[in-house]
Amino acid sequence: MGRTIWKEIIKAGKVADNIGTSFTSSITKRIGNGTSISFWHDIWVGSECLKSTFHRLFMLESRKDVTVAERILNVNSTSIGNWDWSRPPSGRAIDELTELNNLLISVNISDRPDSWKFSLDASGIYTTSTMSNLINKLKYDTNSRNLSLPKNKYVPQKIYIFSWRVIQQKIPVRSELDKKGIDLHTILCPLCEHHFETIEHALVNCQKITSIWTQLLDWWNQNNIRISNINEAIISDQGFTHNPIGSSIWQATKWIACYIIWKHRNLKIFSGKIWNPAAIISEIQSQSFSWISNRSRKKTPIEWHQWLLNPSFYASPNRMGIG
Ligand SMILES: [Zn+2]
Repeated sequence: MGRTIWKEIIKAGKVADNIGTSFTSSITKRIGNGTSISFWHDIWVGSECLKSTFHRLFMLESRKDVTVAERILNVNSTSIGNWDWSRPPSGRAIDELTELNNLLISVNISDRPDSWKFSLDASGIYTTSTMSNLINKLKYDTNSRNLSLPKNKYVPQKIYIFSWRVIQQKIPVRSELDKKGIDLHTILCPLCEHHFETIEHALVNCQKITSIWTQLLDWWNQNNIRISNINEAIISDQGFTHNPIGSSIWQATKWIACYIIWKHRNLKIFSGKIWNPAAIISEIQSQSFSWISNRSRKKTPIEWHQWLLNPSFYASPNRMGIG
């Protein structure tokens, strides 16, 4: 990199400091043809190397030092995994594989050589902007901060990444794949087969999904609010405004709900699993209990029966313990 570019980087860092947001910056590899990038060890998609995010799959990898070029096939301008496992993934490794396949769809392999990329990003997770775009954004567009999503300590990293991708419109629903010019036999929602599948439709508005949200609101005793768009599902603290603990665990539950809804949508498409709202709700209840209780203070643990009865109990600002 030339001297001028380094000067710009330093300047951008200062701008970031000045607008008072916590930015992370790093040098990452920028994918070209993928021949000089290690698939598992380098940081080339997302904010960490894939062996950390998908450690179960990494254990099953038969060649740990394989390159990106060797693990990704480009079929009709869609990137798909060219896997070689020491034994077939099972159990939670299958969840990881679904995640990883979703992530790889957005990767563009080209004929250019791989290069280095300076990434400076409010969320520290994923950056597609070129550096000059980003510097301009930092200088002139304070709205860029709206794209960041504060962390939530009650969920694992993969749930945070998923939620972040939702608000960045980076979930491979059919409308997004269609925009990328990928040839699909249909762009309709795989659940209702009636509406164009946008991200908002796939996670919130599909008639096969609204009943799930209604029941989650019932479960949380939040019948006075509605979840009718992505903002309300991922960002808004409606229902728990001015209650940081309540708003965090309610948000964690909503993020987990979106993730599990998306997982079951994929299971239906790719494994022919029957769409079963009651089973999805149970999974959201037990999975949110497991993740949130594990990440809460151990002195006053969250009880499963109370969680199932009314999780808002744990959101009370007067209740000491959780947090
Ligand atoms: Zn639908």
